[in-house]
Amino acid sequence: MTKMPLVGIYGGTFDPIHYGHLRVAEELVDTIGFDRFYFVPAGEPRLRGAPGASKHHRASMVALSIRNNPRFSLDDREIKHSGESTSVESLQEYHVEFGGNAVLCFIMGADTFLKINYWYLWQELFQLCHLVIVDRPGSMRMIDRRDFPQEIQHACASRWTDDPSDLTRQCNGKIFFAQTTLLDISATRIRNLLAADKSIRYLLPDAVLNYIKTHYLYSGENGFK
Ligand code: ATP
Repeated sequence: MTKMPLVGIYGGTFDPIHYGHLRVAEELVDTIGFDRFYFVPAGEPRLRGAPGASKHHRASMVALSIRNNPRFSLDDREIKHSGESTSVESLQEYHVEFGGNAVLCFIMGADTFLKINYWYLWQELFQLCHLVIVDRPGSMRMIDRRDFPQEIQHACASRWTDDPSDLTRQCNGKIFFAQTTLLDISATRIRNLLAADKSIRYLLPDAVLNYIKTHYLYSGENGFK
């Protein structure tokens, strides 16, 4: 049997993208051996307030941050979509585009996973993909599974694996906890630093920093300084 391509899909608001996202993605390609890896910025995220930057700016910052890395691609399908985007719909589209001949892995941090039961048709995700979860500073750790919300515990109990090769043995429905470098970086903190006129250097790529500066993003009334 020909091996099906293993596809990593990293959804997020990326408002803006930072080294917390990028380093996790880089390590996951090594650990899991993805054949393709897509960053998928959300157009109009359903479960949070309006982003600080427009969807086009957020996608441009993702593109800039990965432009020299042949492992990564930007997928702007949710940006082009009018209205709210859902991951279930995007995953269904991927299946059609790959002709059902790919194993999809949706990547998320612990904070996102612990609220997954609020996602649109969240249990459908297990029919469409595997989940790959990474720990995140400030969030409950993935080894503390007994403290997860009951609904999540029940739906996920039989799905956990510590073996990345399970992701190729089965086409969907597993949850792999991947250990990656813990970086206490968040887009919220970056936006707050900018609002307080403090430096954001070394939290994200210089190309993104320069883009934020050029386009006066996240700056309130006075502009980026
Ligand atoms: P915000 O602070 O605006 O909520 P964020 O930094 O959490 O933004 P998102 O774009 O919302 O970034 O995150 C996209 C995905 O990346 C989520 O699944 C989130 O858990 C994960 N993620 C973000 N930052 C990190 C980090 N430092 N380490 C691990 N995972 C992260």
